Amino acid sequence: MSGIALVTGGTRGIGAAIARAMSAEGYSVAAVYHGDDSAAERFHEEARIPVFKWDVADEAACVKGVSEVEEQFGAITVLVNNAGITRDSMFHRMDWAQWRAVLSTNLDSMFTMTRALIEGMRERRFGRIINISSINGQKGQVGQTNYSAAKAGVIGFTKALAQENASRGITVNAICPGYVDTDMVAHVKPEVRDAIIAQIPVGRLGAPQEIADAVCYLASPRAAFCTGAILTINGGQYIAN
Ligand code: NDP
Repeated sequence: MSGIALVTGGTRGIGAAIARAMSAEGYSVAAVYHGDDSAAERFHEEARIPVFKWDVADEAACVKGVSEVEEQFGAITVLVNNAGITRDSMFHRMDWAQWRAVLSTNLDSMFTMTRALIEGMRERRFGRIINISSINGQKGQVGQTNYSAAKAGVIGFTKALAQENASRGITVNAICPGYVDTDMVAHVKPEVRDAIIAQIPVGRLGAPQEIADAVCYLASPRAAFCTGAILTINGGQYIAN
């Protein structure tokens, strides 16, 4: 497959698996990260995929970053909005900084990154936008009012943007992963991890590659008729309609 793919949060976890899988399929891939230079360096050395450092919540940084990537590689044809963080707390103890951090990284980034690219995709009459939401945006999760709100917002954003751009050759889809074995999940206590696995009918966490495979499908010509879809990949933990 040829094309230029930009993957936010592409240096660790699910994003790194997506970046590697797309590179293996023949895309030129750029991976964006924010703070962890040593993880990004390791990823770059192993995967031979160029990395770029900027904050997806910072609109000006996204405009500048996208234009740098496009100067080096050409017009971006696939955008994977994957970068995300958690700042968990019960709502009655949550502070404004925890709320803002999660909303800006996980939801404002849908605006900042996509807005920086959409006009070019519309002019070229082709684009693939794949947004990574979450099971917890579908069902809500105790301790994650901020994250659940942001990820539910990603679903609404995806559905509306898909309708606006379908006639321009641009598809917009979202994936809602269940619990996947990455740093984000590694931070939970072992007993919480065991309790999570006990709720997953297939009896295990997901692998990052299982999300990456779905992204590759949604980016491919095989998925040209698929837009506005919310793809649930969670081992049967939550059966969404
Ligand atoms: P990780 O914590 O493993 O990796 C997050 C990646 O996002 C890193 O590359 C990180 O960069 C980057 N990132 C974080 N904040 C920013 C920012 N402000 N600007 C640019 N890059 C940023 O996350 P996962 O792989 O677990 O999660 C990936 C996505 O999947 C997220 O959207 C998450 O919400 C979603 N998801 C994850 C699930 C899971 O079980 N893991 C389940 C459902 C959804 P750096 O290394 O510099 O920090």
